[in-house]
Amino acid sequence: MGHSQDFLQRFSGTITSRDRAIMFRQRPVTVWLTGLSGAGKSTIAFELERQLVSSGHACYVLDGDNIRHGLTCDLGFGHVDRRENIRRVAHVAQLMNDAGLIVIAALISPLREDREAARKIIEQDKFVETYVCTSVDTCERRDPKGLYAKARSGEIASFTGVSAPYESPQNPDLRVDTATSTVDECVSGILDYLRNTSLVDSRWPDGVRSRK
Ligand code: ADP
Repeated sequence: MGHSQDFLQRFSGTITSRDRAIMFRQRPVTVWLTGLSGAGKSTIAFELERQLVSSGHACYVLDGDNIRHGLTCDLGFGHVDRRENIRRVAHVAQLMNDAGLIVIAALISPLREDREAARKIIEQDKFVETYVCTSVDTCERRDPKGLYAKARSGEIASFTGVSAPYESPQNPDLRVDTATSTVDECVSGILDYLRNTSLVDSRWPDGVRSRK
């Protein structure tokens, strides 16, 4: 993608990403929420952020819909543009992780290949793929933004789950089902996972264990 940047060299400062993580007393990761429109990604993302912040963690939500107002406002919903959307957000997540923050990314990110590309950019041991596995029927019944109705009437084209594919993760790190669990239960499940894998650990760096 883009131009060759071979002539550019990286300039490294003396402060490392580990220094920044130690300053925030946390191990930076990206919780990548994938699922259909209306599955509950944004709702879970912002509640997870609220609970992390209230327990003293520094984090930030990268919400696909919000980011489309700025960083990715030039992109549409075809395959190529969705891929570019995910690539840009993944790079921002990587930078924020490097800066020491926990990132919560909420993007439909419908194709496995594109999520795998995000995993590579963010790095395997920082990428927590979280499948918000709400069925299209449930999402359509909720239709919180009225988008399914518009997709069915043809007003919106390439709508995931209706007129564009969604490839569910085969082996996600985490799975939350918003049809059978409350928002609180979904968030608790993610927090438990983060605590158990020691990705979020107030004892960092002393008590840190490697993830795998
Ligand atoms: P997305 O970001 O995936 O498009 P939203 O978070 O915008 O989805 O919308 C999800 C809708 O589902 C909201 O209206 C929310 O109140 C509702 N909802 C019901 N149960 C849950 C749950 N357990 N988790 C998240 N959202 C839920």
